[in-house]
Amino acid sequence: MDDMEQLYQEIILDHYKHPRNKTALRAEEVQADEENPMCGDQIQLAIEVDDDVVQRIRFDGKGCAISQASASIMTEQLQGKSVAEAKALIEQFVAMMRGERGIEPGDNEEWLSLSGVRKFPLRVKCATLSWRGMQKVLADR
Ligand code: ZN
Repeated sequence: MDDMEQLYQEIILDHYKHPRNKTALRAEEVQADEENPMCGDQIQLAIEVDDDVVQRIRFDGKGCAISQASASIMTEQLQGKSVAEAKALIEQFVAMMRGERGIEPGDNEEWLSLSGVRKFPLRVKCATLSWRGMQKVLADR
């Protein structure tokens, strides 16, 4: 493992062990409830949009480190973005994970850390689970 791979693994582990914006959600707060049966991952999302801006994202869930770290990263990166910006970022992220978009200058460390998962097609679903849930919630906005 080279230094960059080690750094990326540390970023994922940090988000897994210290998830941002993770909290227990009441059933009535849950707007997306995503499951990845292949791996046993579950993600629930509660999203507050006001003035066309994603004000707050909270998640709850369980599953592998990739799925939970990616959810934590997603909440940090999309909070404060306009709905249009958030939708565009989700599309870029999913395209990157599916190998339809390459790494681009300016991609942040979190994206780069998750991009390593592309080598393992079954894990791509783990990484995109929370982003797809977010996409569904924003779809009719
Ligand atoms: Zn998983």
